[in-house]
Amino acid sequence: RQEQFRALRSVEPVTRDGQRISLLMNAGLLVDLPQLAESGAEGIGLFRTELQFMIASTMPKAEEQEAFYRNVMKQAGGRVVTFRTLDIGGDKVVPYFRAHEEENPALGWRAIRLSLDRPGLLRTQLRAMLKAAADSELKMMVPMVTEVSEIEAVRELVQKEVQHLSRFGHSLPRKLQFGAMLEVPALLWQLDELMAAVDFVSVGSNDLFQFSMAVDRGNARVADRFDPLGRPFLRILRDIVRAGERNKTPVTLCGELAGKTISAMALLGVGFRSVSMSPAAIGPVKAMLLGLDLQALSAVMEEALNDTRPTTSMRDILVRFAESH
Ligand code: PEP
Ligand code: MG
Repeated sequence: RQEQFRALRSVEPVTRDGQRISLLMNAGLLVDLPQLAESGAEGIGLFRTELQFMIASTMPKAEEQEAFYRNVMKQAGGRVVTFRTLDIGGDKVVPYFRAHEEENPALGWRAIRLSLDRPGLLRTQLRAMLKAAADSELKMMVPMVTEVSEIEAVRELVQKEVQHLSRFGHSLPRKLQFGAMLEVPALLWQLDELMAAVDFVSVGSNDLFQFSMAVDRGNARVADRFDPLGRPFLRILRDIVRAGERNKTPVTLCGELAGKTISAMALLGVGFRSVSMSPAAIGPVKAMLLGLDLQALSAVMEEALNDTRPTTSMRDILVRFAESH
């Protein structure tokens, strides 16, 4: 099977009924980069910049950050890299960055919250990204957004850094795409404002599922209690895709869900046309979609999602569809 997947590397990801799907991969370290060519991914849909911080024993200096980003882009060889700004806190521990003990770290001082409270840290990172992407394209996104004002606050810092760099004669990126991750349910009631505030949205389904269902993603006792392929979560995802379409804002998803074949099928069925996953999943997911009648699947899922009988998982429906098609 490995060989079969390998053979698909250069095959265009197009469903049987002609829908082009963007298959991206998640990464976080330089050792991940060869996987781009290996897997045939179109680019990097999520680059977890906190990994450089997590494996270091002291805070990476501005120059180290810049050199790292430059190297990542160089090795990506023109393929898109979506850098996520620091997502420290919660399940991502940076030993030398001593946050206070928190009772609920997942709900605590983390990610964009921490970055906005430590603007020096964020500005250093933003500047490093802008410099590393001089004369090319920069795509960045912010994690754990709860309110649209947080996006505006980061944008302002980006603008300040851009002005600073141009004042000192540095070249700037030719193009800058600015996005937000959708991981906090509060954003579900600000979808139109969110879509209008960014160039793209990336759903972090690991955290969005954790917070929607109130289940700790790292707690084995409860992590598998509810099915991401249940009607509640799939309806959430469908609403997000529709808001993206309504506002003409590209929407993608970069959680673990995208990397399991049956879940990836469900994501396409609710309307995603771009997904980012671990590199090893690209081959199997591509094999699935090449044989997929997406129009038929969308119709089956739409009907099942509109069903109002007490909710059950849609997994059976999806498996049945896969077997009969
Ligand atoms: C997510 O939450 O789905 C996500 C992609 O980010 P992380 O897993 O790094 O929290
Ligand atoms: Mg997350």
